Amino acid sequence: MATWLCVKQCGACCHLDPSERPELEDYLAPEDLKLYLSLVGEDGWCIHFDPEARECKIYDQRPRFCRVQLDVFQELYGIEAEELNDFAIDCCQQQIEGVYGDASPEMEHFNQAVGCEL
Ligand code: SF4
Ligand code: SF4
Repeated sequence: MATWLCVKQCGACCHLDPSERPELEDYLAPEDLKLYLSLVGEDGWCIHFDPEARECKIYDQRPRFCRVQLDVFQELYGIEAEELNDFAIDCCQQQIEGVYGDASPEMEHFNQAVGCEL
């Protein structure tokens, strides 16, 4: 069984370009949407993303909507506890595919790390 985890040297979900996430308004409250949009840099990446290290520069203070945890996902997406693992894996795969591509080393790395069948 695949088990979700956030792999190092990825950062795909920190590519925030709103044109690639047209459903933002459906799950972010107005205040969170405002915060989200304030983080988008000119290149579409979060202004707090370190592209060299491929990691968050404010990890401990990152916004709530950046956190993969049950209470946040219940609130944003209305999922149940037993759905969290598979839902988070799907989210990561979608984001990695959009940013790096379906056949990218990042996708391969993620699938291997979580134990997904290729
Ligand atoms: S897309 Fe998934 S694996 Fe990649 S940085 Fe985000 S949470 Fe981690
Ligand atoms: S605040 Fe950090 S975790 Fe959230 S999108 Fe920006 S770089 Fe990524």
